Amino acid sequence: MQSPSIKSVLSKLITLTGERETHSLEISLAQTLFDLVAPGAVVIYRALNIEQHIFSATLIDGAPFQEIIPRPLLHALEKCIKSGNACEYQDEGQALVMLYPLKSSKNEPVAVVAIQSPEHESQFREVTGMLLQIYQNFMELMNDNERDTLTGLLNRKTFERKIGKVITRIQHLSNREEDHGEHKQFFAIFDIDHFKNVNDQYGHLVGDEVLLRFSQLMTLNLRDKDLLFRFGGEEFVGVFECRNIDEMKMVLERFRGKIEVFPFPQVGQVTISTGFTEISGYDVSSQIIDRADVSLYYAKNHGRNQVSNYEELVEAGLLQENKIEGDIELF
Ligand code: GH3
Ligand code: MG
Ligand code: MG
Repeated sequence: MQSPSIKSVLSKLITLTGERETHSLEISLAQTLFDLVAPGAVVIYRALNIEQHIFSATLIDGAPFQEIIPRPLLHALEKCIKSGNACEYQDEGQALVMLYPLKSSKNEPVAVVAIQSPEHESQFREVTGMLLQIYQNFMELMNDNERDTLTGLLNRKTFERKIGKVITRIQHLSNREEDHGEHKQFFAIFDIDHFKNVNDQYGHLVGDEVLLRFSQLMTLNLRDKDLLFRFGGEEFVGVFECRNIDEMKMVLERFRGKIEVFPFPQVGQVTISTGFTEISGYDVSSQIIDRADVSLYYAKNHGRNQVSNYEELVEAGLLQENKIEGDIELF
């Protein structure tokens, strides 16, 4: 391995630390490893379903050393992910492949970067170790910046960035002829009912514990691919992909039911009101939030502990009624 110049190392680090998305950061790390360490190939294996042994492979550069993941490599990848430690693997051509776990923003190993045949092993390990440490530090920094401290869910600032991407994706999909609208995106706001009473009766600390438990129930009961955020206070939101309004309503109803029956420590029963709306390719984030908020007001004004959908309310002519009743409350 030729020692890379300070200038080239610094320029790689500038690119690496300029990334703001986990996936791009991983790609950038692997590209940096390839450029600086000059191995045979670099591949990122992402664990999609570790129980069913399903990994996706992204070849970063160099000659692909495995088209289909052979069983011994699969075992080595699983070992690397489960142990969280670096492993070695000898491929069919007898080349040494180093496997390094990549941790998610929640600090769990979720992917493996595989580096084939480094020429000068000890120097290679040193440089790779340092780069991975920089990557891990940077991931932690990104994590602190993206997430809410109490619940660990994504924060409002991150929402603004992510929702822009969702809208752009909807625009691309609707421009494509083969799309038949099966992939609709929805935005939902969840607001805890009478949460002030929880604070007043049991104190702020117990209130915080309810918020934490609620966020855990969100993560547990909603799907991995759903984007979940704490918006602030006792207000949580999610971005969901579903086929249609009815399916979305069913998912949100089921979640509402789970909360209703969960025994929150000390407090007992807690309920939530939910308002949701479909996201269109013409939206900006404030419009989406406004529509979901209007349907949330409706749910609050009609008994709480229920789910309401903006589009259905408009179609049924019920929003006018809501305005006339007009308790304009800020949730
Ligand atoms: P509603 O059913 O109308 O939503 O009634 P509510 O009492 O939940 O009303 P509102 O949403 O206006 O009240 C939110 C309360 O949440 C007010 C505030 O004291 C409390 N709160 C906001 N942030 C936090 C927090 O981080 N921790 C705790 N414990 N309480 C919080
Ligand atoms: Mg509330
Ligand atoms: Mg509120």
